[in-house]
Amino acid sequence: MNDKIEQIAQNIKNAKRLVVFTGAGISKASGIPTFRGKDGLWKKYSPQELSTLKAFVDNPKLVWQWYNERRRLIKKAKPNAAHHAIAKLETIFKDNFTLITQNIDSLHKKAGNQRIYELHGNIFEVRCMRCGQVYKDDKIYEERELVPKCKYCKEGSLRPNIVWFGENLDRDILNNSMKKSATCDCFIAIGTSGVVQPAASLPKIAHDNNAFVVEINIEYSGISIFADEVILQEADSILPDIVERIY
Ligand SMILES: [Zn+2]
Repeated sequence: MNDKIEQIAQNIKNAKRLVVFTGAGISKASGIPTFRGKDGLWKKYSPQELSTLKAFVDNPKLVWQWYNERRRLIKKAKPNAAHHAIAKLETIFKDNFTLITQNIDSLHKKAGNQRIYELHGNIFEVRCMRCGQVYKDDKIYEERELVPKCKYCKEGSLRPNIVWFGENLDRDILNNSMKKSATCDCFIAIGTSGVVQPAASLPKIAHDNNAFVVEINIEYSGISIFADEVILQEADSILPDIVERIY
């Protein structure tokens, strides 16, 4: 195992362009709740039911307040050792580093990463449904019981700036993510099931363009068949060890 880890670390170290791709698995150790629990106010709703444009249009107050609750809980979470290790990779590779995440929890930003493509948006941002203005200032939405109006166009309602079920990913973010995946020579997939398309195609794009693909996950996934190496372990327990060897 140690030889394997050393070999993977050397491959990462020798890379000219590195892409790290993360999913929900990396945030598990930070205690991000899945909202599939049996308790609490929201137990009678499933996330799939509330995370749609139709749900928001039909019942804006209900969906807005669900997001208030989610933001309140996610705000308490702290980046774990895996997030910090990825932030270190960015300080090593600088402009040759790209982070692509499916997570909306902002934990990579909290850990210090800056070169990030957030494929599914960010729960701490809101966007005007009419003019598209994005707000990153939490004073705009925090503690609001009702959906706020846009202060620019004065008419549009503000919605969470995330990609809901049935919606397309932002085209620029997706195109840039695909381009970075196609031109990197090392690609590390962490804690993602590789099921949700089109994001799941990124490791394949990297593989098809001769990148060295590493997967870190607690179980085999749809990505494993494209991976040159698979480490079946929690990211927060193994990634710091790998990054330590790259310094
Ligand atoms: Zn507006």
